[in-house]
Amino acid sequence: MPDSIFTKIVNRQIPAKLAYEDDDYIAIHDINPQAPVHLLVVPKRPIATLNDLSEGDRELVGGMFLVAAKLMKQMGHSDYRTVFNCGEGAGQTVFHIHLHVLAGRELGWPPG
Ligand code: AMP
Repeated sequence: MPDSIFTKIVNRQIPAKLAYEDDDYIAIHDINPQAPVHLLVVPKRPIATLNDLSEGDRELVGGMFLVAAKLMKQMGHSDYRTVFNCGEGAGQTVFHIHLHVLAGRELGWPPG
């Protein structure tokens, strides 16, 4: 599989506005934000879609939510939405799993 855009960002081959980094994850500001705050929490290890997860990925995926919660707390947001798009039909365009974290406006339900 060729490197995804997010792997290229992890490897500093293309620029991004970084919000967070540790050994396992980066969080970046979405280039096309859908809310005043729109972060993407991305594991450094590439997994194409949620359908490609295995049992061994439990901790990695759970950790994405911990990063999201930590960043929202730091940024002063108690109300926010987290979204995984899985598959083209659900709007996935980058095939390297990522958790959208949206905040800073009223978020309607159901989503579009
Ligand atoms: P999805 O459509 O769920 O796969 O989400 C992919 C997200 O990545 C979209 O919201 C894009 O706006 C965002 N995106 C694509 N390229 C970049 C980039 N170079 N830097 C930051 N965000 C990006």
